[in-house]
Amino acid sequence: MKIICIGRNYAEHAKEMKSELPKEPLFFMKPDTALILKNQPFFLPDFSNEIHHEVELVLKINRVGKNIEERFAHKYYNEIGIGIDFTARDLQAKCKEKGQPWEMAKAFDGSAPLGGFIPKTSFALNEIAFHLNINGKTVQKGNSKDLIFSFDRIIAYVSRFVTLKKGDLIFTGTPEGVGPVKTNDRLEAYIGEEKLLELSIK
Ligand code: MG
Repeated sequence: MKIICIGRNYAEHAKEMKSELPKEPLFFMKPDTALILKNQPFFLPDFSNEIHHEVELVLKINRVGKNIEERFAHKYYNEIGIGIDFTARDLQAKCKEKGQPWEMAKAFDGSAPLGGFIPKTSFALNEIAFHLNINGKTVQKGNSKDLIFSFDRIIAYVSRFVTLKKGDLIFTGTPEGVGPVKTNDRLEAYIGEEKLLELSIK
């Protein structure tokens, strides 16, 4: 399986990063070794002094698809979950400055904690509220209605370049409010009022 992540998919987050709004979806990937499952802890790596949380809605792909038309894209996922796209912001800044790929800042081990999933039939897909708490305080709040590129648009776009397979995950982008995590922080991610992910920082 592979993890596909969409960057700059909420205008307010693009603004806080001082990035331009994309005209087409921007995507990158993480390997399967990035996953953290079952609420296992995240260990701060020694190569960064600035690991940021980015809470994101996650689509789970349920069938193989290539060159998927946007109008059929909804048939390629039936569950939505929540995850964190941990980012070594200091390394990412260096990569951006040099015009280099982001992998070292985005794809490292443990950079993709993943929580539980909910059938997509439980939601109005264009209005899914989600948030991240750290130590009981809400630090990021998002809603799928603010996506620049919809779930279907993302699936159509990415599948022009990369064949999607059953079990692949798409992290759909983070809303504003990203920031650093530190040792002993307790992260809890919710869709609506349902807590689907919790992990501690070690
Ligand atoms: Mg992200």
